[in-house]
Amino acid sequence: KKYVYLFSEGNKRMKELLGGKGANLAEMTSLGLPVPPGFTITTEACHLYYQQNKSLPEELFKEVKNALEKIEKALGKKFGSTENPLLLSVRSGAPVSMPGMMDTILNLGLNDVTVEALAQETGDKRFAYDCYRRFIQMFSNVVLNIPHYNFERALDNAKELAGVTEDTMLDGEILKGLVDEYKRIVLKNSGKSFPQEPFEQLKLAIYAVFDSWNNPRAIIYRQINKIPEHYGTAVNVQSMVFGNKGEDSGTGVLFTRNPSTGEKVLFGEFLVNAQGEDVVAGIRTPQPIEKLKEIMPDIYDEILQLCDKLEKEYRDVQDIEFTIEKNRLFILQTRNAKRTAKAAVKFAVDFVEEGLLSIEEALLKIDPNQLDKLLHRNIDTEVKLNVIAKGLPASPGAATGKIVFEADEAEQLGKKGEKVLLVRPETTPDDIHGMVAAQGVLTTKGGMTSHAAVVARGMGKPCVCGCEALDIYLEDEKLVVGEIVLYKGDVLTIDGTTGDVIIGEVDLVEPELNEDVLKVLSWADEIRTLNVRANADTPQDAKKAREFGAEGIGLCRTEHMFMEADRLPIVQKMILAQTVAQRKEALDKLLPIQQRDFYEIFKVMAGLPVTIRLLDPPLHEFLPDVRDLSIELALAKEKGDLSSSEIAKREELLKRVKSLQEANPMLGHRGCRLAIVFPEIYEMQVNAIFAAISQLVNENIEVYPEIMIPLVGEAKELAILKEMIVNIATQYEGKLGKKINYTVGTMIELPRACVTADKIAEYAQFFSFGTNDLTQTTLGFSRDDAEGKFLPSYLEKKIYKENPFAVLDREGVGALMEIAVEKGRKTRPELKIGICGEHGGEPSSIEFCHKIGLNYVSCSPYRVPIARLAAAQSKI
Ligand code: ADP
Ligand code: MG
Ligand code: MG
Repeated sequence: KKYVYLFSEGNKRMKELLGGKGANLAEMTSLGLPVPPGFTITTEACHLYYQQNKSLPEELFKEVKNALEKIEKALGKKFGSTENPLLLSVRSGAPVSMPGMMDTILNLGLNDVTVEALAQETGDKRFAYDCYRRFIQMFSNVVLNIPHYNFERALDNAKELAGVTEDTMLDGEILKGLVDEYKRIVLKNSGKSFPQEPFEQLKLAIYAVFDSWNNPRAIIYRQINKIPEHYGTAVNVQSMVFGNKGEDSGTGVLFTRNPSTGEKVLFGEFLVNAQGEDVVAGIRTPQPIEKLKEIMPDIYDEILQLCDKLEKEYRDVQDIEFTIEKNRLFILQTRNAKRTAKAAVKFAVDFVEEGLLSIEEALLKIDPNQLDKLLHRNIDTEVKLNVIAKGLPASPGAATGKIVFEADEAEQLGKKGEKVLLVRPETTPDDIHGMVAAQGVLTTKGGMTSHAAVVARGMGKPCVCGCEALDIYLEDEKLVVGEIVLYKGDVLTIDGTTGDVIIGEVDLVEPELNEDVLKVLSWADEIRTLNVRANADTPQDAKKAREFGAEGIGLCRTEHMFMEADRLPIVQKMILAQTVAQRKEALDKLLPIQQRDFYEIFKVMAGLPVTIRLLDPPLHEFLPDVRDLSIELALAKEKGDLSSSEIAKREELLKRVKSLQEANPMLGHRGCRLAIVFPEIYEMQVNAIFAAISQLVNENIEVYPEIMIPLVGEAKELAILKEMIVNIATQYEGKLGKKINYTVGTMIELPRACVTADKIAEYAQFFSFGTNDLTQTTLGFSRDDAEGKFLPSYLEKKIYKENPFAVLDREGVGALMEIAVEKGRKTRPELKIGICGEHGGEPSSIEFCHKIGLNYVSCSPYRVPIARLAAAQSKI
């Protein structure tokens, strides 16, 4: 088996075997770019190292020696020679970039003898001993685990003694003395003298790279970035080039284009007379790359050409490391550049315009999730932040405001135009008005799909949730984190993109759907076949949705309309009614209000379909809490200041509320089951819908209403309710004197609905997968319990790869969806099918929806652009 590949033997497609760095060094070598020769020891050797109890076979080292000989021949130098010594760098390189996993060792092969040879050959003692002292420090740190500060202290002392400020000002003799000091440090700290035999140095360095795969920071980095443990790292052994040979030498890092703005200009820094990571280490302040144009114009031109070549070859913006040795340019690394959302979009547009990528290829280069960042106000990246805690980045964007702990208060202050931040242990539907009024929401409990998170994302409002480092004392209206105590009214900033919680006000930059974004989205629209709609409950949301390019509303929930403060009392009266007549009385009051809601939403969405879901949640969600009521009643009785009839009234209320309590509300009396028992509720809603439509028809405004029945599990449920809807519609059509273009369909959110979809499709003109409930009912997980209690363990143990409430569970829920699509279309080939759960805005779930032939996805307005791009990518 071959474990060692010369750079001339590999290419960029061999990342798995050679690691990213090795594969790209090989690719650049074959492109004829100035890469110092070298070779890569494969990731398979890394696996072998661990299989063989951290050792490597002799044959492997024979291969290493062979490869070394070829390099020696090519360069006319010899490793360990006392005349013209070859020096090496030893560099780690995993299949995916893991910055900072291991420090690189430079100048390997130096010892007390070869250093003199290097000094002789170059005629530069300062240079030779500068290399040696760097080598001892790096090798000792990486291989012998001796902390850097030991050496840095000695270096500082030497500088002080010599009365100089910069490393480069130390002369050869002083550096030689420093090397002796370094060797003493090694002996003292490791009990052994510094290894002098070059091949022994190389062996130890190779072992150290393989060991570094399992050092704690590498393990944590892999966990955070979901990098598989089994990859292993490769080792790159490369001949050295020297940026520390004087004023005509240097080293630097650059991006072929600006990775922050996307602008087409070189972006980077360099240092003259420096080696390795001096640029990043901040020992001296590096110079901007434009300066190189003045100092070494020829090299600068060469770099420009090289960047062009690399961009063409990799068809992407590159992040490059280079070194200049005595006016000769060498390139030491290239990789696809990390970029901001803004830059990603600009790169895509420019690459298409420059003819480097087709539109399809360019679209695939943009991570749809990244677009999110462009749609929210963000923290100015230039400012320094006082971060006091970190929570989950639940809804992107940044918000600054005065701390408020109660939703009512947030609303009052918000109405006065004050900027407030709603800070709560968690939020409930009762807090929505406060969330609307606040700039952002911060909670200490709950996950990425907690109420606060879901609602905030829906509103496009920044939210940090589950910030456990914070303690909220509601009674004292204060917030404590460690030593810091903040009170109501103190100013706080949250960054929902990072999860940061920051003291004080921070400058924010406005979002921009700039021309580039609009262009990318219009390309996506031409390609995709999946329609994109939005979930919107209010005219404001609907307006936002249209702005972001939604092609209709896929889910308009009606329960939020019931929650508003002026309606809740009527809704409660309706629920607590003892007789049908009483209930109807309350419903009659609600009807005109609902009619107005629907009228406004239809009007905003003129010309586009609007799916209205009839009431879904269990009725007790609209009633006061049993515990609150009980306590109130007990207190009132104790005080004795209420009349006995008032007490009786309250006792009755408590009894009614108690009777509506359910052991398992998620599986209780909700959805269409409400209407089977209390048909008047849906009758009112349907009347309101058709009354609104009639108004709009008279105003010549086009409406495409789709009435959706939730939680159907058996076709008869739908049959009964559809008949009711058709009867009401017919009455309105009679009054109007014309036909109304409406459809009746159902949400598919129960496994039984999926497997009996053929029967349901006899009545349903459309299906919309409610994958939030379908996931709950298929997995048997209640979301609120799962996310707070056991799901984290499940994810940690990799029982489920991903949170099934965030990323659609294709194997389970997805399989049921496929059955439903197939059976539904068997009965009704033209059946329109969509999805309106949270998954409708998640790229990988969107891809699945495209694959199984859905007609549309529906997501929160702010995710519409993401879904447009993801839908196009699914098609490509
Ligand atoms: P990282 O993966 O942490 O970036 P690298 O292996 O790229 O580590 O090495 C870091 C730096 O060391 C390079 O950017 C370069 O400046 C220097 N370096 C590595 N190999 C060589 C070499 N053969 N000659 C000169 N400098 C080198
Ligand atoms: Mg590097
Ligand atoms: Mg549902």
